[in-house]
Amino acid sequence: MRAVVYDGKLKFHREWPEPAVPKGEILIQVRLAGICQTDLEILKGYSQFQGVLGHEFVGVVVNGPKNLRGKRVVAEINCVCGQCDMCLKGLSNHCRRRTVLGILGRNGAFADYVVVPERNCHALPDNVTNEEAVFVEPLAAAFQVLRQVPIERHMRCTVVGTGRIGLLVAQVLAQTGCRLQVIGRNPLTLEYCEKKGIQAFHVDNVVPKADQDMVVECSGDENGLAISLQLVRPRGMILLKSTSAKPWTIDLSPAVVNEVTILGSRCGPYAEAINALARKQIDVLSMVSRIFPLHKAVEAIEVAETPGTIKVLLEVSKA
Ligand SMILES: [Zn+2]
Ligand SMILES: [Zn+2]
Repeated sequence: MRAVVYDGKLKFHREWPEPAVPKGEILIQVRLAGICQTDLEILKGYSQFQGVLGHEFVGVVVNGPKNLRGKRVVAEINCVCGQCDMCLKGLSNHCRRRTVLGILGRNGAFADYVVVPERNCHALPDNVTNEEAVFVEPLAAAFQVLRQVPIERHMRCTVVGTGRIGLLVAQVLAQTGCRLQVIGRNPLTLEYCEKKGIQAFHVDNVVPKADQDMVVECSGDENGLAISLQLVRPRGMILLKSTSAKPWTIDLSPAVVNEVTILGSRCGPYAEAINALARKQIDVLSMVSRIFPLHKAVEAIEVAETPGTIKVLLEVSKA
């Protein structure tokens, strides 16, 4: 099969071995896949991953139980043991023995076929298109913010960073009716937010007043955390939403002095993301900048790196 593989170098392979299907797992023919910041960080050394890239995808089950065969599905990316202390606590996304699709110890979805545990699959309603469904994974990650912090209308919230995840978090927060602003660098994505009725400011024009109840750091850059620390009020919260290959060097004293809660945030509830897309509550289609065929993945990943490009998709197969 065809596959996009990273082994210290990024390469498109025409004849990569098709995956075996272990018991309890199913084979999915990938239709569409999304390029995420995490993929770009892996290419810079994050997670020391080697193998088939890709964790955001939609596909059709070709080998699995009858009730799933032929179904259009998305899949959760954490493949878990179900037996360790984290799994038994209901925190299976933190499974001690997990593998993660295209990120940790397991091949991903930038390929004709991908194998995932059956229990990771979510069948899609007909009114969610493939172009929308490919956003389920990152949109679920955006919804995780609401799981971790109950947002009330009076709260002042700032999203720092207007990249892929920043724009999804901003849209999810906008739904809560909170007092929301986003701060970014790129005029195109700032304008995108304004068009959606979300106040957006260029970082150079922001005078931090230490008055935000919550700041969601989505820039993936240490400067983003530095400004978050200036924006957040004493006893406020900062959520960290991006992983980075490069370790950050930053003065955390303001967090101590102002008793700021800093919270990591990763994967989120798929069902909520699918529902939001089915009800057309979140607009993801306008985030698609380009769609490339799978064999042009190397070029597509280069394009995904360019500022102002929001989502780049890979078309793997047609229905
Ligand atoms: Zn991702
Ligand atoms: Zn486990």
